[in-house]
Amino acid sequence: MIKTDVLIVGGGLSGLTAARTLQGKKRYLLAEKEPLTGGLAASVKKNGFTFDYSGHLLHLHWKKTGDLILRLLKNNHYKIRRNAWIHLKGGEVPYPFQANLYNLPDKIKSECVCGFLEACLRGKGGSGHARAGMPFKNWSINTFGAGISKHFMLPYNYKLWQYPLDRLTADWCAPFVPMPNPREVLEGAYRTRSTEMGYNPVFYYPRLGGIQALPDALAKGLKDIHTGCELRSLNLKTKTAFINGLGAVKYGSLINTMPLKYFVELIKSPPAGLRALNAKLRHNTIYVLNLGVKGTSSKKHWTYFPESEFLFYRAGIATNFSRHLAPKGCSSLYIETATYGADLDPGAAEKKIFRGLIKGGVIKNEKDIIEKLWLKIPCAYVIYDSARNIALPPILSTLADNNIHSIGRYGAWKYSFMEESVKEGLETAKKIITNRAPRR
Ligand SMILES: Cc1cc2nc3c(=O)[nH]c(=O)nc-3n(C[C@H](O)[C@H](O)[C@H](O)COP(=O)(O)OP(=O)(O)OC[C@H]3O[C@@H](n4cnc5c(N)ncnc54)[C@H](O)[C@@H]3O)c2cc1C
Repeated sequence: MIKTDVLIVGGGLSGLTAARTLQGKKRYLLAEKEPLTGGLAASVKKNGFTFDYSGHLLHLHWKKTGDLILRLLKNNHYKIRRNAWIHLKGGEVPYPFQANLYNLPDKIKSECVCGFLEACLRGKGGSGHARAGMPFKNWSINTFGAGISKHFMLPYNYKLWQYPLDRLTADWCAPFVPMPNPREVLEGAYRTRSTEMGYNPVFYYPRLGGIQALPDALAKGLKDIHTGCELRSLNLKTKTAFINGLGAVKYGSLINTMPLKYFVELIKSPPAGLRALNAKLRHNTIYVLNLGVKGTSSKKHWTYFPESEFLFYRAGIATNFSRHLAPKGCSSLYIETATYGADLDPGAAEKKIFRGLIKGGVIKNEKDIIEKLWLKIPCAYVIYDSARNIALPPILSTLADNNIHSIGRYGAWKYSFMEESVKEGLETAKKIITNRAPRR
């Protein structure tokens, strides 16, 4: 039987960063079920195109991890100013919608401005304050008013989450939804303003290799990475994992980065109540249609499509992050469609998507499409609802009691971003090196 101090499940950014931090300090073994490491930050090469699992842009918020990421990428990166839009009623509004109402047709602008003023008069507009567990729909109407909610916040978020917005909570919003103050909303309704708001007004992206350049740099020189090795079951009492291709692995502590819900399902004879709590965790699924297209047109990075006549919720132009993602004279697009608990039929979806791309002005002619690749993200956005609030703390604390650190976007079952996965991998490995218990 293999024995290790630390078993790491999953070779995405959080698992790889943990392995890199443990290297030379503790015995570790990283098991990744796919043939390559990278997780959601992987890139796929096809006939001269490099496709990511949708746009994967590095927005850096913390000095330590920001420096580490840029050091790993060496000079292989661009620094880019966001150029994002919302397609509505045949026109375009710069992102964020709530701070750029000036570009809307008069009637809609008036609904949005009046609704926002009413929300301000009720004392809540612009504050963004959400009590824990507050339904997203109420939060949006309180914060932005009825008009902004009706024309953007509600239809867009329903398309993304595919979950009833009176059951989705607003607990995820604070870092991700730009919250202009009343002055900024009103100024944005009557004159062109800066779009530098939100968590990613400036971002970094690898010059060569797609976003896979980052996990590749992290994995370089790591000794105990085992790809094609899937965790199949776990015995908490004996601290033994059964992994395809490796057999039984006895560990001292375990870092889990695979989706929590499916990790817990692998536990043999789990503590009482754990399965029932786990059954409360939900997530949606994203299908990314990557397209290689002849010619290049707009300089936009991505456009949001809140209207239901478009199947997809966002369409991006990856070659505007790095022109090296496509052969000369071509561009590369990524189109994102969400589902909840249902499969998407790619054939039927493609027809609707192509029609939408032409209507939305993203491509001129279907004949320009010369390459395509569907990438599916089965567990994409974890659902924030009251059931998550009830189930997550006891699940994580049961795992912590068994020396399991469950981290990363899916291990911790949250809405987060690449730098945060790197940060958690780093901090968790350091805790293990200094012998501190998992966070409860
Ligand atoms: C549509 C979309 C767009 C995004 N865009 C951005 C963006 O622009 N910027 C940004 O910063 N972040 C973005 N993110 C978030 C980002 O992808 C994640 O935060 C980050 O990549 C997660 O890394 P991770 O290591 O925590 O998890 P993952 O990358 O999911 O790694 C987990 C690993 O576990 C492996 N695994 C699963 N089951 C098993 C098993 N049984 N045994 C062994 N291994 C297993 C998986 O194969 C995977 O490699 C986006 C996410 C989505 C869904």
